[in-house]
Formats: sequence, structure tokens, C-alpha cells
Amino acid sequence: MKIAGVFLLAIGFEGLVTAQYWYSVLFIPLGVFVAMLPIRIRTGVCIACQGPLQRDQAICPACGAPQM
Ligand SMILES: [Zn+2]
Repeated sequence: MKIAGVFLLAIGFEGLVTAQYWYSVLFIPLGVFVAMLPIRIRTGVCIACQGPLQRDQAICPACGAPQM
């Protein structure tokens, strides 16, 4: 998700360079938001069912939801 955030930020800055400011207004906040998501999610619980997860577990063992 960190890479996705950086990618969205890059699109936003591309908008600045090419003077398409709605690009920047849309993608820069989105990029910052996406880049910060893993910090909030990495709390050891499933994002779908709130069940306990092992460290760095990508799929919830209880409900099968991917932990992005
Ligand atoms: Zn779950």
C-alpha cells in the first residue's frame, strides 16, 4: 500500500507539472491517505471480522479476507 500511495502522489505531482491542478487536488490527498493506511491496519486484528492475526499474515485465518 505504501507503493500505491507513492504512485498516487507521483500522479498528483505530474498534475502540478502539466498544470492539470484537479489531478493534484484529487491524487495528492489520496496518495497521503493510502500511504498511511498500513499504519492504522497493522494492529494485529482482521480488517473484516476483527479476529486476531499473526504478525504479517496476509489472509485472515478466520474469514479469509485479504489484509491489504
Ligand atoms: Zn477476518
